Amino acid sequence: MSDLTIFAPLAGWVTPLAQVPDAVFAEKMLGDGIAIDPVNDALCAPCDATVLTVHEAGHAVTLRSTAGFELICHIGIDTVSLGGRGLTPQVEAGAKVLAGQPLIRFDLDYLVQNAPAVVTPIIVADATLYGVEPIASGVVAIGDPLLRVVPLAAEAGEAQASGETLVEETVVALSHGLHARPAARLVEAVRRHEAQVTLYHGDRHASALSAVGLLGLGLGHGATVRIEANGPQAAAALAEVIAFLNDATVEEGPREAPEPTRGEGPGLGGVPAAPGLAVGPIHRLTRAAIPVETVAGSPETERQKLTDALTHVREALVLAAAAGGARGGVMAAHGAMLADPTLSEAAIAGVGRGLSAGVAWQEAIAEQVAVLMSSGDRRIAERADDLRDLERHVLAALAGLPIEGPSVPAGAVLVAEDLLPSQVAALDAGVVAGIALVKGGPTSHAAILAAGMGLPMAVAFGDSLAALEDGRTIILDADRGLIDPEPDAAAQVQARETIARRKAEMEAARAAQGPCRTADGTRIEMFANLGSVADAEAAVAEGAEGCGLLRTEFLFLERATAPTRDEQARDYQAIADALGDRPMIIRLLDVGGDKPAPYMDLPVEENPALGLRGIRVSLADPQLLEDQIGAILAVRQPCRIMAPMVASLSELEAVRAVVERQGGHLGHRAEVGVMIETPAAAISADILARKADFFSIGTNDLTQYTLAMDRGNAAVAAGVDGLHPAVLRLIGTTCDGAAKHDTPVGVCGSLAADRLAVPILLGLGVTELSVPPARVAAIKALVGKLDLARCRTVAGEAMELPSAAAVRAHITQMLQEIGA
Ligand code: PEP
Ligand code: MG
Repeated sequence: MSDLTIFAPLAGWVTPLAQVPDAVFAEKMLGDGIAIDPVNDALCAPCDATVLTVHEAGHAVTLRSTAGFELICHIGIDTVSLGGRGLTPQVEAGAKVLAGQPLIRFDLDYLVQNAPAVVTPIIVADATLYGVEPIASGVVAIGDPLLRVVPLAAEAGEAQASGETLVEETVVALSHGLHARPAARLVEAVRRHEAQVTLYHGDRHASALSAVGLLGLGLGHGATVRIEANGPQAAAALAEVIAFLNDATVEEGPREAPEPTRGEGPGLGGVPAAPGLAVGPIHRLTRAAIPVETVAGSPETERQKLTDALTHVREALVLAAAAGGARGGVMAAHGAMLADPTLSEAAIAGVGRGLSAGVAWQEAIAEQVAVLMSSGDRRIAERADDLRDLERHVLAALAGLPIEGPSVPAGAVLVAEDLLPSQVAALDAGVVAGIALVKGGPTSHAAILAAGMGLPMAVAFGDSLAALEDGRTIILDADRGLIDPEPDAAAQVQARETIARRKAEMEAARAAQGPCRTADGTRIEMFANLGSVADAEAAVAEGAEGCGLLRTEFLFLERATAPTRDEQARDYQAIADALGDRPMIIRLLDVGGDKPAPYMDLPVEENPALGLRGIRVSLADPQLLEDQIGAILAVRQPCRIMAPMVASLSELEAVRAVVERQGGHLGHRAEVGVMIETPAAAISADILARKADFFSIGTNDLTQYTLAMDRGNAAVAAGVDGLHPAVLRLIGTTCDGAAKHDTPVGVCGSLAADRLAVPILLGLGVTELSVPPARVAAIKALVGKLDLARCRTVAGEAMELPSAAAVRAHITQMLQEIGA
């Protein structure tokens, strides 16, 4: 091991300095070296060294190696302006460190979201004294040999001291002090003069030709510095140094930056709600007020007006609900809310007190909204949006106005504080490019509708989105929940090309007749998640090869009594008929937790997500289970039966016993599978696989239970990401356990429809993907571009990464490389 070797201080991708998006580094103004695009969360010592400085913003360190050369390690670009956020130094100036010892820990997710780039230059200071030879390329781990340092024959250095020494004092006006970039520029400026310049601050001093020395002065904004200059051009050098230090805008000058190597850029961070990419001008939605008549006629007249308006809206909702799909489902839910007598009785009572129909309706809604908001349950409070939506519908009917959706210019990105479900439903997905919300939640009805319509949507961007002006062109990456607020022309062209290419590929996938396969010919079953006959029809039209998840809750929710065995059988048969002879996996009732079934009289639980839900409900009510399994077995086409929320083998055995008994009566057999939604099921997959005919991973629940983060809680929404390496490891464990017994593994949670997850899932061994009908064609097209061997490699790499953000960045790059 030579003491002139530098070892990788980070894990990540080796990047030539020329590609670092900052001219100071790219043009080697501070010295020669290399950069690493990190995937871990700590900058470690690249060699045995003494720490010279740790910048007060925690983003950079300078070191003197035991071999005598000096090093600058600078985490990311423009990270000084984070003021220390996301960066935690582990050492202080003066510390002696060994190669591999952590110097600065950082929050990679935060840096990715908040800095123009995270690529980290490792610079050997003073290119006149040292050159470097790269040893590594591609991906490196901490401690891998990275660079060899090559001492150069010393050039003529500083001008000889001669004549009078000029002395001046000044104050540093640079907004972030003299950090790496201005230090490099100052060295450049001084080098042009025949002069010897020294800066003094406190008890320290440094030559103006040594960037590391200058950084070591720790000159913050407002610091006083004494400058001494000597030599033939001392006066000019001194004047230039003072002008430089006094220029508060020096850092805002253009950074002639080459293109970043990844999709990082200055941008706003939100939460993905419906996948896709959009580019277009912002169209800000302002909701037009609906005029409300406040002067009341006689109570009879007002009552009649109200009753007519309610009937009108109810009929419109019934019509919209009949169209089925996600939109129909939401409209049906609104219809059920409107039918609730509490609302209409309160409004009629208001009319009786002399209020106009409009004011009485507003008061009735306000009362119910207050009840929902005070429930303490965020998901219930989210339904207040649905009530506000109903308020507008009825007020519009009273005013004789049509209920119009937002009118959005073609190709615009709709930006709003929040959106009501009906406003999303009224959008034309062929006209609107995408949706970005200041507030909003990823599990709201508005988000579900956008996903069903194929409209990219990201939410919870906060005030930074509210500040962007109308008409500004932005790029919305709803796969990652990011907005680029000032894309240059090249970025816009590239985004439009990507959107057009994906669209063409989707159309080709829709039209393709053959079964879904990867580029190397591996068969992947492309199924759809269904909840109704309309969904099944849409899925078939999109090219789905079967149903990987029939959510049977739709039959049980929003009803006054349980559906009978015959009612269930009729509904299952209708969906099976719409699918033709395609396979269908029917999930047993999954209520409890966040899915209430009012008439079932489930107990109020303190912790419902961990209570009586999923298969536990059916096992606690044997008749319910017998009826549902009997109804499924009565379907003419053979169906597969799947149990939700399984945690133990005994639950699977209990379900299988019922299937065998009921099947015996009917002379039917059915495969029985298990949803892998609990960490318990994933960890014991090899045990479950002994008795299961198939697995389907419910990544929505598996993610919330693995990360201990409620999938419906907006406060933790940004963290509930199934690409978290912990979740990926459990998926890997599931596939390994299943492989021991040749049990096929599918995924029916939303990860299956996430472009960035698909390569990993296939690489881990998943052979069936079940996605919302609107995502079938896009995912099928993507699968056709993937090579299984490459998927296996990236899956292995992804599980070693520190965070979901790092996984997303890694797969984004992989997909870019294969042109997907
Ligand atoms: C899941 O949990 O991933 C799943 C598919 O089930 P649901 O979303 O219906 O709970
Ligand atoms: Mg689930």
